[in-house]
Amino acid sequence: MDTLFSMKLQTETIIEKLRKIGARKVMIQVPDGLKPGVFDLFNTLSKEFGIVISSDPFFGACDVGDSVLYNDVDCILQLGHSEIPNIKYPKPVVFVEYKEEKIPEINESHFQDLMDRGVQKIGLLFSIQYVEAADRVKAVLVKMGFDVLIGKNDGRLKYPGQVLGCNYSTGHSILKDVDCFLLVSTGMFHGLGAQLALQKDVYLFDLNDLTLRNLAPEADRVIRKRYAWIERAMNSRKICIVIDTKIGQKRERLAKALEEQARKADLEPILIYSNNASPTDYENMRCDAVVFTGCPRVPIDDQERYSMPVLTAPEFRAAIKAVRNNRYVMDEIVSTD
Ligand code: SF4
Repeated sequence: MDTLFSMKLQTETIIEKLRKIGARKVMIQVPDGLKPGVFDLFNTLSKEFGIVISSDPFFGACDVGDSVLYNDVDCILQLGHSEIPNIKYPKPVVFVEYKEEKIPEINESHFQDLMDRGVQKIGLLFSIQYVEAADRVKAVLVKMGFDVLIGKNDGRLKYPGQVLGCNYSTGHSILKDVDCFLLVSTGMFHGLGAQLALQKDVYLFDLNDLTLRNLAPEADRVIRKRYAWIERAMNSRKICIVIDTKIGQKRERLAKALEEQARKADLEPILIYSNNASPTDYENMRCDAVVFTGCPRVPIDDQERYSMPVLTAPEFRAAIKAVRNNRYVMDEIVSTD
């Protein structure tokens, strides 16, 4: 194959893994960025295996798609993400991680600002595509004389130092030992979550433009908005508590505990199961507020799509004063049901 797949993803390794599992019929999940190689992948793999390609959008290793499709195969092949080790997947899953191979030139001048601020100990974080760039960054920082620490991962992350938009355990594990964090990634998604979750400054080293950016001001802006929605939710009575049915987002026990807390607070909660949260569903139900126990990034990143407050579990507990915190608490997923 001479497309994207042959450059980025090793089909021989995939075939070996599928053979080892004894797969005969395989469902493939392909993220949009890798879809240009899907014909080549199909043509190669279908010589040996029955292939079903899912074109549905999926959100990561927390989402292995529609059970109508995966119930009919003996293996799932997911491209682009790393396994979430503590999920009990319904079928064997072969994960083929996408790692960005083109690493730009990284040098000491990119991190001079940290030196000027007197930073000594840095917690290094990365999103999975940039693990190799993070190695390069580490080497430069060490050469500059910084102490670079890599935090331990919990059961939801595969690698030390890795982050997901819903899990920053690698940061928490070294929070007390570092002056700040440096996240190697692109765009704001992982960085914003890291800054909301970790009580130290997070600097995003953005590989798109090789800029270093302190994310505390952006996180403060988001937190102010979140408190405005929490305050609005304080007057709510009818509450939809949503359980996302995706395998790696389903937190039914949490939802039931929230339901009980809501009843104790004299509210009228109902539990809703959904695989695809949509604003009109909740508007049609005439609810005053939604508590979303699936991906914690839905309330934070998608709130503007909804007319009513959509809160995470800790935000809801703050709204009903079930828990008092003197700081904003980011909802992170440690494990699912
Ligand atoms: Fe990403 Fe959300 Fe899934 Fe976590 S729950 S892996 S942030 S899509």
